[in-house]
Amino acid sequence: MYVLDSSAFINEYHTDEQIATIPLVKEELEGEAAFRFDALEGSGMHLHIPEQDTVERIERAARETGDLAELSETDVRLVAAAFELDARLVTDDYAMQNVAEKLDVAVEVIARDGISEQRDWLFQCAGCGREFDENHDRCPICGSSLSRKNPA
Ligand SMILES: [Zn+2]
Repeated sequence: MYVLDSSAFINEYHTDEQIATIPLVKEELEGEAAFRFDALEGSGMHLHIPEQDTVERIERAARETGDLAELSETDVRLVAAAFELDARLVTDDYAMQNVAEKLDVAVEVIARDGISEQRDWLFQCAGCGREFDENHDRCPICGSSLSRKNPA
């Protein structure tokens, strides 16, 4: 089980493992990331609400590591959810990683994994050869068609 934080949705983190998150994360998402949340919820993502006792336990641990001031309510509850579910926490947030380690919660870093797979793609114009990070129907410069290319 993987517990996803907001940035995991924003950065299109992908895993074949079962995933979970907390309802508060949805409130931090907009646009495509919010649609992704809904789609994943529709396909079986588990929404977990951690117990208050666990939340307080995470807060105590965060106070000990000096990270509590850096953590939002959502952050604390995400760590609590991962702790209760015995799941891996997917986040790039250092304060959350610190507290998770203190509690022996395994952490998966988004930047090292999910993003590299998602962002390696470039789109190249067949006409002028310009490269774009995002796909367009037509090259915005010369109007020719674009094709996907992997720069690696
Ligand atoms: Zn072009």
